[in-house]
Amino acid sequence: MQTLEQRWNSLWQRINRAAEHAGRDSRSIALVAVTKTVPPEKIEVAYRLGQRHFAENYLQEALDKQIALKERCPDIVWHFIGHIQSRKAALIAQHFDWVHSIDRIEIAERLHQMRPPTLPPLNICLQINISHEDSKHGLMTDTSLPSLLKALQPLTRLRLRGLMGMAAPDLSEAQQREQFAWLRHLHQQLQPSIGADWDVLSMGMSSDLEAAIAEGSTHLRIGSALFGERPPKLS
Ligand SMILES: *Cc1c(COP(=O)(O)O)cnc(C)c1O
Repeated sequence: MQTLEQRWNSLWQRINRAAEHAGRDSRSIALVAVTKTVPPEKIEVAYRLGQRHFAENYLQEALDKQIALKERCPDIVWHFIGHIQSRKAALIAQHFDWVHSIDRIEIAERLHQMRPPTLPPLNICLQINISHEDSKHGLMTDTSLPSLLKALQPLTRLRLRGLMGMAAPDLSEAQQREQFAWLRHLHQQLQPSIGADWDVLSMGMSSDLEAAIAEGSTHLRIGSALFGERPPKLS
């Protein structure tokens, strides 16, 4: 069994090697640790190693951990990366710093309305369906992206940062790169109409981080490479 510290070190070796290979500075790449199913004690170990950005998929699980970690890990930056149900948007607006999984305007409007005035605007990314698998949530760009971007403009309690995408599983590295390159191009195309804050490409997980770094990822979302394999999902 590897310790978390050993996994942390091998993960950073992978990130550094991929960054070097791509001619990038690894300090331009943020590691967001994905902690679904990971207990608070393990999150605290990662925190002691220097990790600050943590991501959760399920609201109730996240809120429980936030309470458990509040005292001992006070400056965690919390990211929400799961599918958002409308009735849960208020709690997400109150308890997270980032949301990567915006795929419809109703959710954005709700987060804007419910973001407490005492907090800075909520950082958001639009989740794009880059794998074209029906099973994955995310926007289909051709149809819904232009109207969504327009509708986001008056939502001042949100800070639109960039795009998030997940490559399909079981692809070769070349195929992973194709899907990530497509997202990078889309991000570049939109840059002139959005402006200065548009600086995030949230892509890359444990099995495809090399491809994501090669294609310009700024935020890796990594779970199993850091915390070990998750138990199979109960569904
Ligand atoms: C679980 C999850 C990850 C991390 O996946 P790993 O393969 O464990 O690194 C990243 N992004 C999202 C949206 C996830 O649900």
